[in-house]
Amino acid sequence: MNNKLYGNLIFELSKTGRKGYSLPKNPYPYHTSDLPRELRREVDAQLPECDEPTVVRHYTNLSHNNFGVNDGFYPLGSCTMKYNPVINEEVAAMEAFAKAHPMQPIDTCQPLLKIYGELQHLLSEITGLAEFTLNPCAGAHGELTGLMVICAYHQHHGDTRRRKVLIPDSAHGTNPASAAVCGLEVVEVKSLSDGTVDVDDLRSLIATHGEEVAAMMMTNPNTLGIFERNIPEIAQMVHGCGGLMYYDGANLNPMLGECRPGDMGFDVMHINLHKTFSTPHGGGGPGSGPVGVRQGLEPFLPTPRVVWDEKEDRYGIDVDGKGTSLGSIGAFFGNFGVILKAYTYILSLGKENLKMVGPLATLNANYIKESLKDVYLLPIEGLCKHEFVFDGLRNKETGVTTMDVAKRLLDDGYHAPTIYFPLLFHESLMIEPTECESKETIDGFIDVMRKIADEAAEHPEQVKTAPHTTPIGRVDDVLAAKHPIVTYQQLVEDQATTE
Ligand SMILES: *Cc1c(COP(=O)(O)O)cnc(C)c1O
Repeated sequence: MNNKLYGNLIFELSKTGRKGYSLPKNPYPYHTSDLPRELRREVDAQLPECDEPTVVRHYTNLSHNNFGVNDGFYPLGSCTMKYNPVINEEVAAMEAFAKAHPMQPIDTCQPLLKIYGELQHLLSEITGLAEFTLNPCAGAHGELTGLMVICAYHQHHGDTRRRKVLIPDSAHGTNPASAAVCGLEVVEVKSLSDGTVDVDDLRSLIATHGEEVAAMMMTNPNTLGIFERNIPEIAQMVHGCGGLMYYDGANLNPMLGECRPGDMGFDVMHINLHKTFSTPHGGGGPGSGPVGVRQGLEPFLPTPRVVWDEKEDRYGIDVDGKGTSLGSIGAFFGNFGVILKAYTYILSLGKENLKMVGPLATLNANYIKESLKDVYLLPIEGLCKHEFVFDGLRNKETGVTTMDVAKRLLDDGYHAPTIYFPLLFHESLMIEPTECESKETIDGFIDVMRKIADEAAEHPEQVKTAPHTTPIGRVDDVLAAKHPIVTYQQLVEDQATTE
């Protein structure tokens, strides 16, 4: 429980001169005075001064205000809040990994490079694409990298007019954003009512823009959790006009062991290791969005690249690429800790169990959908993949919204599903259980969702005023997003008066 004694901000607990830790004597022959003057501070940093128990209690109390996947079921659609197995953390904490430095000589870090090499290879096998880079640090970063690979490819072939990207209107917001950051123009493709691509609309767009199309970006299963059945036809149309096919594999989960983007005709893709392969995420990272390409596109991948060095019979690092490479897209080789956890997850499951991930995630989602569709409105009937969308409660008379249901779930120890996305419906509740939950956990969630539906009909106020048991009730999310206060206000005021 939250203990008010330990405050909201660590600054409020500060006592001038109080110490919890003292730095060891500087063992190096360098001193701050050796730094150029312009790099040195003129005044001491304004840091809070606290004893160790106060610091520990403050942060432990803050953590009680949070809800993570280790606190309870977290069915956040599209985000795949999969449980992060303890063995992932154990491996990542091993000294040889945790203390490695990206600039250490390559003969001192062969095991690490081998992990890069093997994960690149495993991802190729899982997806059917020829080569991978593990450098991108998020899904969106992978999208940008993949689009840059596509641009480099067209550039190399003198095809400089190809500056348009076809993106379905149901796509994740990062798709058009990445295209814009890459300097490309987005051409929106219409969806049918089940969220799948409208092939007729695509055909007419290609007739108009064909010679300027750099790529088509697709997500499969789409944001409604529905499998796109027309990929071979779509791929043929896009390739026919000279464009490349990009696969947003952030949600590869339901496809694991079932089918491979490379076999469906995709040329470039990214995977979110932090969704599909169980590494922790949320709160801004760290993530990892490896990019895979089919044979023939690997010369355009970014550097540095971990490669097998035939001559030296060991792993090496290709720093410069082949002259056609994009060059660097970030510091060094991506987020090694995340890469290592994903590698651990894949190896600890093994090939046979990995093949169970997709079918189990799909089964769990369909089980919840079928168990609740008499009380929640299911706009698209039929089999879904790893996730599905309800359009709020079936009974619309009560005035109870999706937001109210989401808040009420917290009182029973469940995190809310994704709400108000996708935008195709007004009261979207997007549920993704993942494969790692027990039947008891899922049944518990179903019971609570049914209880909330009953409450909405009988005591709607009880739901509309939820949550009742959390340390913080309803926050103003818009204000928090538009006017975040990230500096200790008293500090700002004190500084203003001394200046
Ligand atoms: C999560 C997600 C992304 C973006 O991934 P980030 O790591 O958050 O940048 C892109 N596309 C889809 C479909 C996603 O679900």
